[in-house]
Amino acid sequence: MTGMDVARTIVDLRTYRDRLGQVSVALVPTMGALHAGHLALIAAAKATGAAVVTSIFVNPLQFGPGKDLARYPRDEAADLAMIRDFGCDLAWLPDAAVMYPPGDATVIEVAGPALRWEGERRPGHFRGVATVVAKLFGQIRPDTAFFGEKDWQQLQVVRRMVGDLALPVRIVGVPTVRDPNGLALSSRNRFLSGPEQAVAPCLYAVLRHVADRLGAGADPAVILEQSRETLRQAGLSPEYIELVDAETLEPLGAVQSPCRVIATARIGSVRLLDNVRVA
Ligand code: AMP
Repeated sequence: MTGMDVARTIVDLRTYRDRLGQVSVALVPTMGALHAGHLALIAAAKATGAAVVTSIFVNPLQFGPGKDLARYPRDEAADLAMIRDFGCDLAWLPDAAVMYPPGDATVIEVAGPALRWEGERRPGHFRGVATVVAKLFGQIRPDTAFFGEKDWQQLQVVRRMVGDLALPVRIVGVPTVRDPNGLALSSRNRFLSGPEQAVAPCLYAVLRHVADRLGAGADPAVILEQSRETLRQAGLSPEYIELVDAETLEPLGAVQSPCRVIATARIGSVRLLDNVRVA
Protein backbone atom coordinates (compact mmCIF):
# COMPACT_ATOMS: atom_id res chain seq x y z
CA MET A 1 0.00 0.00 0.00
CA THR A 2 1.35 3.45 -0.87
CA GLY A 3 0.03 6.93 -0.40
CA MET A 4 0.77 7.61 3.25
CA ASP A 5 2.08 11.10 3.89
CA VAL A 6 4.62 11.62 6.65
CA ALA A 7 4.69 15.02 8.34
CA ARG A 8 7.34 16.20 10.79
CA THR A 9 6.68 19.94 10.79
CA ILE A 10 3.53 21.97 11.43
CA VAL A 11 3.78 23.39 7.89
CA ASP A 12 3.79 19.91 6.31
CA LEU A 13 1.05 18.75 8.67
CA ARG A 14 -1.21 21.64 7.57
CA THR A 15 -0.59 20.84 3.91
CA TYR A 16 -1.30 17.11 4.25
CA ARG A 17 -4.21 17.64 6.66
CA ASP A 18 -5.87 20.07 4.25
CA ARG A 19 -5.34 17.57 1.44
CA LEU A 20 -7.51 15.07 3.31
CA GLY A 21 -10.34 17.51 2.54
CA GLN A 22 -13.81 17.30 3.99
CA VAL A 23 -13.69 13.58 4.76
CA SER A 24 -13.99 12.64 8.43
CA VAL A 25 -10.57 12.42 10.10
CA ALA A 26 -9.71 9.89 12.82
CA LEU A 27 -6.66 10.27 15.05
CA VAL A 28 -4.76 7.38 16.64
CA PRO A 29 -2.22 8.81 19.11
CA THR A 30 0.73 6.51 19.89
CA MET A 31 4.26 6.57 21.24
CA GLY A 32 5.52 4.18 18.57
CA ALA A 33 7.09 0.73 19.04
CA LEU A 34 3.85 -0.37 17.47
CA HIS A 35 2.21 -3.75 18.00
CA ALA A 36 -1.12 -5.42 17.27
CA GLY A 37 -2.82 -3.35 19.99
CA HIS A 38 -2.03 -0.14 18.14
CA LEU A 39 -3.06 -1.74 14.85
CA ALA A 40 -6.46 -2.57 16.36
CA LEU A 41 -6.96 1.15 17.00
CA ILE A 42 -6.05 1.93 13.38
CA ALA A 43 -8.37 -0.83 12.14
CA ALA A 44 -11.23 0.51 14.26
CA ALA A 45 -10.57 4.01 12.94
CA LYS A 46 -10.45 2.80 9.33
CA ALA A 47 -13.66 0.83 9.80
CA THR A 48 -15.52 4.11 10.33
CA GLY A 49 -14.54 5.18 6.81
CA ALA A 50 -12.47 8.09 8.12
CA ALA A 51 -9.07 9.16 6.87
CA VAL A 52 -6.67 7.93 9.55
CA VAL A 53 -3.90 10.00 11.07
CA THR A 54 -1.48 8.13 13.36
CA SER A 55 0.77 10.21 15.56
CA ILE A 56 4.03 8.80 16.84
CA PHE A 57 5.55 10.89 19.60
CA VAL A 58 7.36 9.72 22.71
CA ASN A 59 6.08 12.47 24.96
CA PRO A 60 8.73 13.55 27.48
CA LEU A 61 6.13 15.44 29.54
CA GLN A 62 4.36 12.24 30.59
CA PHE A 63 7.49 10.47 31.85
CA GLY A 64 8.77 10.85 35.37
CA PRO A 65 12.42 11.25 36.34
CA GLY A 66 14.52 8.13 35.78
CA LYS A 67 15.42 6.01 32.82
CA ASP A 68 11.97 5.09 31.50
CA LEU A 69 12.00 7.84 28.83
CA ALA A 70 15.56 7.08 27.71
CA ARG A 71 14.92 3.37 27.40
CA TYR A 72 11.46 3.67 25.82
CA PRO A 73 11.66 1.54 22.63
CA ARG A 74 11.85 3.40 19.34
CA ASP A 75 11.66 1.85 15.88
CA GLU A 76 10.48 4.48 13.46
CA ALA A 77 11.18 2.63 10.23
CA ALA A 78 9.28 -0.48 11.31
CA ASP A 79 6.43 1.66 12.70
CA LEU A 80 6.04 3.59 9.45
CA ALA A 81 6.10 0.41 7.36
CA MET A 82 3.49 -1.18 9.60
CA ILE A 83 1.00 1.68 9.53
CA ARG A 84 1.52 2.24 5.81
CA ASP A 85 0.66 -1.41 5.19
CA PHE A 86 -2.37 -0.98 7.43
CA GLY A 87 -3.74 1.81 5.27
CA CYS A 88 -2.98 4.77 7.49
CA ASP A 89 -3.32 8.00 5.47
CA LEU A 90 -1.04 10.35 7.35
CA ALA A 91 1.71 9.82 9.92
CA TRP A 92 2.48 12.72 12.26
CA LEU A 93 5.97 12.57 13.74
CA PRO A 94 6.76 15.83 15.48
CA ASP A 95 9.90 16.14 17.54
CA ALA A 96 9.92 17.62 21.04
CA ALA A 97 10.75 21.12 19.77
CA VAL A 98 7.72 21.06 17.47
CA MET A 99 5.43 19.80 20.22
CA TYR A 100 6.91 22.09 22.89
CA PRO A 101 8.14 25.18 21.03
CA PRO A 102 10.50 27.63 22.75
CA GLY A 103 8.62 29.55 25.42
CA ASP A 104 5.91 26.88 25.62
CA ALA A 105 3.94 27.77 28.75
CA THR A 106 0.63 25.90 28.64
CA VAL A 107 -0.36 22.63 30.27
CA ILE A 108 -3.68 20.90 30.82
CA GLU A 109 -4.30 19.69 34.34
CA VAL A 110 -7.18 17.25 34.79
CA ALA A 111 -8.32 16.44 38.34
CA GLY A 112 -11.18 13.96 38.97
CA PRO A 113 -10.32 10.67 37.23
CA ALA A 114 -6.62 11.65 37.00
CA LEU A 115 -6.04 11.97 40.74
CA ARG A 116 -5.72 8.40 41.92
CA TRP A 117 -3.82 5.24 40.87
CA GLU A 118 -1.44 6.16 38.04
CA GLY A 119 -1.92 9.82 38.94
CA GLU A 120 -0.59 9.18 42.46
CA ARG A 121 2.20 6.87 41.44
CA ARG A 122 3.37 8.85 38.42
CA PRO A 123 3.11 12.52 39.43
CA GLY A 124 2.65 14.72 36.36
CA HIS A 125 1.91 11.76 34.10
CA PHE A 126 -1.65 12.74 33.24
CA ARG A 127 -0.67 16.41 32.93
CA GLY A 128 1.69 15.24 30.18
CA VAL A 129 -0.93 13.01 28.57
CA ALA A 130 -3.72 15.63 28.63
CA THR A 131 -1.41 18.36 27.37
CA VAL A 132 -0.08 16.36 24.44
CA VAL A 133 -3.52 15.03 23.51
CA ALA A 134 -4.95 18.57 23.53
CA LYS A 135 -2.06 19.70 21.33
CA LEU A 136 -2.61 16.78 18.94
CA PHE A 137 -6.29 17.69 18.69
CA GLY A 138 -5.33 21.28 17.85
CA GLN A 139 -2.73 20.22 15.31
CA ILE A 140 -4.78 17.57 13.52
CA ARG A 141 -8.38 18.71 14.10
CA PRO A 142 -9.71 15.12 14.13
CA ASP A 143 -13.42 14.32 14.21
CA THR A 144 -12.76 11.18 16.23
CA ALA A 145 -9.85 9.88 18.29
CA PHE A 146 -9.18 6.26 19.22
CA PHE A 147 -7.70 5.16 22.54
CA GLY A 148 -7.09 1.71 24.03
CA GLU A 149 -9.10 0.39 26.97
CA LYS A 150 -5.78 -1.10 28.08
CA ASP A 151 -5.02 2.32 29.59
CA TRP A 152 -8.46 2.65 31.19
CA GLN A 153 -7.64 5.57 33.45
CA GLN A 154 -6.05 7.47 30.56
CA LEU A 155 -9.19 6.92 28.47
CA GLN A 156 -11.35 8.41 31.23
CA VAL A 157 -8.97 11.34 31.71
CA VAL A 158 -9.16 12.12 28.00
CA ARG A 159 -12.95 11.84 28.00
CA ARG A 160 -13.17 14.17 31.00
CA MET A 161 -10.89 16.74 29.36
CA VAL A 162 -12.81 16.63 26.09
CA GLY A 163 -16.12 17.05 27.93
CA ASP A 164 -14.87 19.83 30.19
CA LEU A 165 -13.27 21.82 27.36
CA ALA A 166 -16.12 21.01 24.92
CA LEU A 167 -13.56 19.88 22.36
CA PRO A 168 -15.28 18.83 19.12
CA VAL A 169 -13.76 15.33 19.06
CA ARG A 170 -15.58 12.04 19.63
CA ILE A 171 -13.51 9.68 21.79
CA VAL A 172 -13.71 5.97 20.97
CA GLY A 173 -12.37 3.27 23.31
CA VAL A 174 -11.03 0.05 21.75
CA PRO A 175 -10.90 -3.28 23.66
CA THR A 176 -7.51 -4.51 24.84
CA VAL A 177 -5.58 -6.75 22.47
CA ARG A 178 -3.90 -9.66 24.27
CA ASP A 179 -1.43 -12.42 23.65
CA PRO A 180 -3.11 -15.83 23.45
CA ASN A 181 -1.89 -16.33 27.04
CA GLY A 182 -3.91 -13.29 28.14
CA LEU A 183 -1.08 -10.80 28.61
CA ALA A 184 -2.13 -7.34 27.37
CA LEU A 185 0.18 -6.28 24.53
CA SER A 186 2.46 -3.40 25.49
CA SER A 187 5.55 -1.80 24.00
CA ARG A 188 7.29 -2.46 27.32
CA ASN A 189 6.69 -6.24 27.23
CA ARG A 190 9.89 -6.60 25.19
CA PHE A 191 11.79 -5.94 28.42
CA LEU A 192 10.39 -9.11 30.03
CA SER A 193 12.94 -11.91 30.41
CA GLY A 194 11.96 -15.47 29.46
CA PRO A 195 10.93 -16.46 32.99
CA GLU A 196 9.12 -13.14 33.48
CA GLN A 197 7.16 -13.74 30.27
CA ALA A 198 5.88 -16.95 31.80
CA VAL A 199 4.67 -15.17 34.96
CA ALA A 200 3.30 -11.92 33.48
CA PRO A 201 0.03 -13.45 32.11
CA CYS A 202 -0.92 -14.21 35.71
CA LEU A 203 -2.06 -10.59 36.09
CA TYR A 204 -4.87 -11.01 33.57
CA ALA A 205 -5.78 -14.45 34.93
CA VAL A 206 -6.16 -12.93 38.39
CA LEU A 207 -8.17 -9.98 37.05
CA ARG A 208 -10.52 -12.36 35.25
CA HIS A 209 -10.92 -14.43 38.39
CA VAL A 210 -11.68 -11.34 40.47
CA ALA A 211 -14.23 -10.11 37.92
CA ASP A 212 -15.93 -13.51 37.83
CA ARG A 213 -16.07 -13.78 41.62
CA LEU A 214 -17.40 -10.23 41.99
CA GLY A 215 -19.98 -10.98 39.34
CA ALA A 216 -21.02 -13.98 41.43
CA GLY A 217 -21.52 -11.76 44.48
CA ALA A 218 -18.21 -12.20 46.38
CA ASP A 219 -17.14 -9.55 48.91
CA PRO A 220 -14.78 -7.14 47.06
CA ALA A 221 -12.52 -6.52 50.08
CA VAL A 222 -11.96 -10.24 50.60
CA ILE A 223 -11.48 -11.18 46.97
CA LEU A 224 -9.15 -8.23 46.26
CA GLU A 225 -6.96 -9.09 49.26
CA GLN A 226 -6.79 -12.71 48.10
CA SER A 227 -5.83 -11.54 44.62
CA ARG A 228 -2.90 -9.50 45.98
CA GLU A 229 -1.62 -12.59 47.75
CA THR A 230 -2.06 -14.72 44.61
CA LEU A 231 -0.07 -12.20 42.57
CA ARG A 232 2.73 -12.12 45.14
CA GLN A 233 2.90 -15.91 45.23
CA ALA A 234 3.14 -15.99 41.45
CA GLY A 235 6.15 -13.66 41.58
CA LEU A 236 4.48 -10.36 40.73
CA SER A 237 4.60 -7.29 42.98
CA PRO A 238 1.15 -5.71 42.91
CA GLU A 239 1.04 -1.94 43.35
CA TYR A 240 -2.73 -1.85 43.35
CA ILE A 241 -5.66 -3.99 42.35
CA GLU A 242 -8.92 -2.20 43.02
CA LEU A 243 -12.60 -2.10 42.15
CA VAL A 244 -13.42 1.35 40.77
CA ASP A 245 -16.18 3.35 39.18
CA ALA A 246 -15.57 3.03 35.44
CA GLU A 247 -15.81 6.78 34.78
CA THR A 248 -14.63 8.57 37.90
CA LEU A 249 -12.03 5.94 38.94
CA GLU A 250 -13.22 6.37 42.54
CA PRO A 251 -12.77 3.17 44.59
CA LEU A 252 -15.93 1.17 45.26
CA GLY A 253 -16.88 -1.03 48.21
CA ALA A 254 -19.47 -2.89 46.18
CA VAL A 255 -20.17 -3.72 42.55
CA GLN A 256 -22.23 -1.14 40.72
CA SER A 257 -22.67 -0.45 37.02
CA PRO A 258 -20.45 0.50 35.31
CA CYS A 259 -17.32 -0.57 37.16
CA ARG A 260 -13.86 -2.04 36.44
CA VAL A 261 -11.09 -3.78 38.28
CA ILE A 262 -7.82 -2.00 37.55
CA ALA A 263 -4.37 -3.28 38.46
CA THR A 264 -0.69 -2.57 38.21
CA ALA A 265 2.02 -5.06 39.11
CA ARG A 266 5.77 -5.00 38.80
CA ILE A 267 7.86 -7.83 37.49
CA GLY A 268 11.58 -7.26 37.08
CA SER A 269 11.99 -3.83 35.50
CA VAL A 270 8.53 -3.83 33.92
CA ARG A 271 5.32 -2.34 35.27
CA LEU A 272 2.34 -4.27 33.94
CA LEU A 273 -0.94 -2.37 33.67
CA ASP A 274 -4.29 -4.00 32.99
CA ASN A 275 -7.99 -3.84 33.77
CA VAL A 276 -11.24 -5.72 33.18
CA ARG A 277 -14.90 -4.87 33.15
CA VAL A 278 -17.02 -6.18 36.01
CA ALA A 279 -20.49 -4.80 35.37
P1 AMP B 1 1.11 3.87 23.67
O1 AMP B 1 1.89 3.87 22.39
O2 AMP B 1 1.49 2.79 24.62
O3 AMP B 1 1.04 5.25 24.29
O4 AMP B 1 -0.37 3.52 23.27
C1 AMP B 1 -1.04 4.24 22.27
C2 AMP B 1 -2.49 3.83 22.27
O5 AMP B 1 -2.58 2.44 22.05
C3 AMP B 1 -3.18 4.11 23.63
O6 AMP B 1 -4.50 4.56 23.37
C4 AMP B 1 -3.17 2.75 24.27
O7 AMP B 1 -4.21 2.58 25.21
C5 AMP B 1 -3.36 1.86 23.07
N1 AMP B 1 -2.90 0.49 23.36
C6 AMP B 1 -1.70 0.11 23.86
N2 AMP B 1 -1.67 -1.22 24.05
C7 AMP B 1 -2.88 -1.69 23.67
C8 AMP B 1 -3.47 -2.99 23.64
N3 AMP B 1 -2.81 -4.08 24.03
N4 AMP B 1 -4.75 -3.10 23.19
C9 AMP B 1 -5.44 -2.01 22.79
N5 AMP B 1 -4.93 -0.75 22.79
C10 AMP B 1 -3.68 -0.60 23.23
